[in-house]
Amino acid sequence: MKWVSTRRGSPAVPFIDALFAGTAPDGGLYFPERFEPLPPASLDAIRSADIVGIATIVGEHLLRGEISAADLRPLVEGALDFPIPLVQVTDRAWVLELFHGPTRAFKDVGARVQARLLHHFTDGTPLTILVATSGDTGSAVAQAFHGVPDTRVVVLYPEGQVTDVQEAQMASLGDNITAVAVDGTFDDCQRLVKQAFADDDLRKHVWLTPANSINLGRLLPQVFYYFILARLASAKNGLIVSVPSGNFGNLTAGLVAKRLGLPVGRFVAATNVNDVVPAYLRSGVYEPRPSVRTVANAMDVGAPSNFERMRALYDDDIDRMRQDVMGTAFTDARVVEEIARMYKERGYLLDPHGAIAWLGLEEALAADKDATGVFLATAHPAKFREVVEPAIGETVALPPALAEALARPRHSIQLPASYPALVALVRR
Ligand SMILES: *Cc1c(COP(=O)(O)O)cnc(C)c1O
Repeated sequence: MKWVSTRRGSPAVPFIDALFAGTAPDGGLYFPERFEPLPPASLDAIRSADIVGIATIVGEHLLRGEISAADLRPLVEGALDFPIPLVQVTDRAWVLELFHGPTRAFKDVGARVQARLLHHFTDGTPLTILVATSGDTGSAVAQAFHGVPDTRVVVLYPEGQVTDVQEAQMASLGDNITAVAVDGTFDDCQRLVKQAFADDDLRKHVWLTPANSINLGRLLPQVFYYFILARLASAKNGLIVSVPSGNFGNLTAGLVAKRLGLPVGRFVAATNVNDVVPAYLRSGVYEPRPSVRTVANAMDVGAPSNFERMRALYDDDIDRMRQDVMGTAFTDARVVEEIARMYKERGYLLDPHGAIAWLGLEEALAADKDATGVFLATAHPAKFREVVEPAIGETVALPPALAEALARPRHSIQLPASYPALVALVRR
């Protein structure tokens, strides 16, 4: 399998090149050249397999000739060493809980597989992972790469604008993880990282690799867990899958899974008030804009980076995209109200991101009385207890892994939002 740019302006490359490059030379994002559906026998095997088995089957299908099943299986076994339960919440709705990894957010899935893929494909040349984060990505990436030989992680976050738990998860690891508190906004962090990747002189001295959600190494593993839903494949009228979306990496992976043969009827692109994609599906006009802060802050994205892949998947044909994806958006007030209602009526505790996905699913199921649906829960509610606790009027216990991170000493480097300062730090 070769990997092509969404802009079709640079040559198709093998997986290893796309993995280390991040973006294609023409500025586009890599995605598969062809979508060959999984053979029926593989789909059958997937229905009774666990996540490691599923990941091995789907990964081998996508990376045929580039990594063997014998190498892939232990790799995913090491990465996906936590449960991903599919839990029934109403007579027609299920939740896929993606938040049982070490940082208690779904980004663990992508980051942990990516770390091992990079390590598998390197020859021992020291590698620097440079990443900007508004919170969840940085903690997942730092955790995933902690202790990986010949690899250094530099993670930039806006000082004072990540949660206490998120900062602890990035800044308390030490060793090969450098946490950098930037005196600026998330946009400043992202600008600095972009500038570094465009800096040929710096890249002569340091082998830089990105780890953001546009990277194939993170996108690919997200395709795996969608196939857990194959167990519900006998659903009448096809399954509806609601995905809480920010940069749309998660949803894009779902669309890829559908192309590979996962029987999903439609996806719901559920967002907070940063609703550029739902607005596009409604009006046909794509208008990125500055992001607005919400209670579901991992989805505060005004210019979703994976939208380019979604468009390319449908050859820029909005009517085709509309057949597969419906969009919907919710205000903070709705989200908080729903966290309270769901807890009171069904005893199920949602985090703000999962609540948005659930609201999106509920809306879709109300419009289609025969359908069955699944929503993806992307963060442990304790990770957002600042929002969840006042909503339900109770305290939420921290999972031990998060409590331990909070108790460890932190070492962040303070950095002004200036490029020369970053260069000095990365070259050190
Ligand atoms: C990153 C994140 C999202 C958004 O995922 P995208 O792939 O960027 O759309 C949703 N929920 C949580 C908790 C996240 O950390």
